[in-house]
Formats: sequence, structure tokens, C-alpha cells
Amino acid sequence: MSLLAVGTVAFDAIETPFGKTDKIVGGAATFICLSASQFTHKMGLVSVVGGDFPKETIELLKQKGVNMDGLQIKENEKTFFWSGKYHNDMNSRDTIDTQLNVLADFVPVVPEEMRNAEFLMLGNLMPKLQLDVIKQMTTRPKLIVLDTMNFWMDIAMDDLIENLKHIDVLTINDGEARQLSGEYSLVKAAQKILKMGPKYLIIKKGEHGALLFNKEQVFFAPALPLEDVFDPTGAGDTFAGGFIGYLASTKDISFENMKRAIIYGSAMASFCVEKFGTERLLNLTSTEVEERIQEFVDLVQFDISLVNE
Ligand code: AMP
Repeated sequence: MSLLAVGTVAFDAIETPFGKTDKIVGGAATFICLSASQFTHKMGLVSVVGGDFPKETIELLKQKGVNMDGLQIKENEKTFFWSGKYHNDMNSRDTIDTQLNVLADFVPVVPEEMRNAEFLMLGNLMPKLQLDVIKQMTTRPKLIVLDTMNFWMDIAMDDLIENLKHIDVLTINDGEARQLSGEYSLVKAAQKILKMGPKYLIIKKGEHGALLFNKEQVFFAPALPLEDVFDPTGAGDTFAGGFIGYLASTKDISFENMKRAIIYGSAMASFCVEKFGTERLLNLTSTEVEERIQEFVDLVQFDISLVNE
């Protein structure tokens, strides 16, 4: 197994300035798997759903090459539910409701064949459960990436800080980086967070791109300027899935390759926001992905001859 992903598989109800949805399929791990499946088919998922979750979605993920043996189905319980409302700028949102349901007493069990995965993506989930999964790995993965959100910082900050000692890459948004570090400057925030454990930090800034830090270097990737953004839900997870999926497919975890992975992650996120929920990711072709990567290259490429060179 090359890549193991953990995180919520959920129902979401979303409101944006462009419309409103009833319960649709969402969840951090759903977006991660759909995105990463563009790059690798040697991947598995560990999560939990209730009996109300559509069996077709589980089949669809299988068809995308995701091993679903680690998905627990609790027939008599309800799937995790999240609802959010985006502000007019589409860059910020309010969580209206979070119902843990089946997640409240979830005990993740990593199937035997996934315990030696080389790449581990700890998607948004209770921090204690993320650590539980790390502990079940028989060999230390080559790279552990962790994503989280303000919800867990508000109620389980100590557990999250413990997790930072066991991972390689942390992906959070700018507001969360400020909350975690207590610093407003993102550069100072990054310095503080890198001292907490991770070797790399990715700060996602929505339509303003993403920053990759290690102790010595920093890299910036823009987000593609899009005419229409319908629904940013899952963009962060889709980004993370593209990032780790690309790394898992190339097996190169150098800083230089992480720069490429960030561009792939950003390209995947740019598709995600074009439609509500997971819709745009479902029928995405590799040609569309490659064309979008080219758009990124064209967007940032320029020639400068320095006078003193
Ligand atoms: P993103 O827009 O990338 O932050 O991810 C949104 C997805 O995260 C939605 O599909 C939700 O189902 C899921 N989600 C929302 N809140 C949580 C939470 N507290 N823990 C785990 N997943 C969540």
C-alpha cells in the first residue's frame, strides 16, 4: 500500500452566495481520496459512516481505486454531519452545525495490509484518533501529513499539539496558523509552529494561494484566478489529497518535489471549487489536470535578467 488516508466521510449542507444544498456527500477523507486517486491507485481509506450513507458513493470510491476495507459502516447510526455558510468573499465561512454522530465513539482500525503504507494522510478528524492511527502503523511511514481545523483547536488543542511531534507536514489555513501560534505575522507563526514538531508547514490562504515553509526555505504557490467559485468546501482537503497523491506517485519527498506537489494540490483544489461538493472531482480526466497545471506554469513564469548578474 502506497498511501493511507484517514478523515471524515460525511454529509454536508452548504450555503454560498450562489446557492444552497441539502445533505450532500462530503467529508475530509472523501475529498482527499477523490483528489489523490488522480495520482495513485495503491491507496486505502480508514473512516466510519452510518447506515444512512449511500452505498453508491462507497462503490464509486472503490472504482477510483480506493481500498475501502478500513471503512466501518455502523448500520444503526447516523453519518457525521457538517453544515457551513460562506461569506460573500467566499474565503471565510461560519460553521452552522457539527454533529459527530457515528464519529463520537469511533475507534479507527487500520487493516493489516495498510499498516505499512509509505505515505500517511491524516485528514481532518479528532486529534486523538489521528494519533491512534499513527500508532497502528507497523513501519514509520516515509511521510506523515496532518490536516486539521479551528474546531479541533478550540476543543482539543493539547492533543493536537502532541500530534505535531509525530508528523512531517502540517497543513492549515492562515487563521488556524495564527490561532495555533498566537502570532499574527505568518512568518513568525511558521517559525513557532515548526518548533512544535513538523519539518514542513503549509499555510493555505484560499484564493490567495499557499505557502510552504521549512526552517530554512519558503515557497509560494498562487491559486488560479477563477471567474466563478461556487463552493470552496473541501478545497483544503482536495489540496492535501493532490499534494500527498503526487508525492506518493513520485516517491520523492525533497523540498523541490514538494514545490511541484503544491502546484498539483492547488490545481486539484481549483477544480473542487467550481461545483458544489465533490461533483467536479467525480469525472475529472488526467488531461484536464495536465492542462490546468500548464495554466499554473503560464501564470507564474517570467524572465528577469538581473543587472548585476
Ligand atoms: P475544507 O473545506 O477543506 O475545510 O473541508 C470541508 C470538509 O470537512 C467538509 O466536507 C466537512 O464534512 C468536513 N468537516 C467539517 N468539520 C469537520 C471537523 N470538525 N472534523 C472533520 N471534518 C470536518
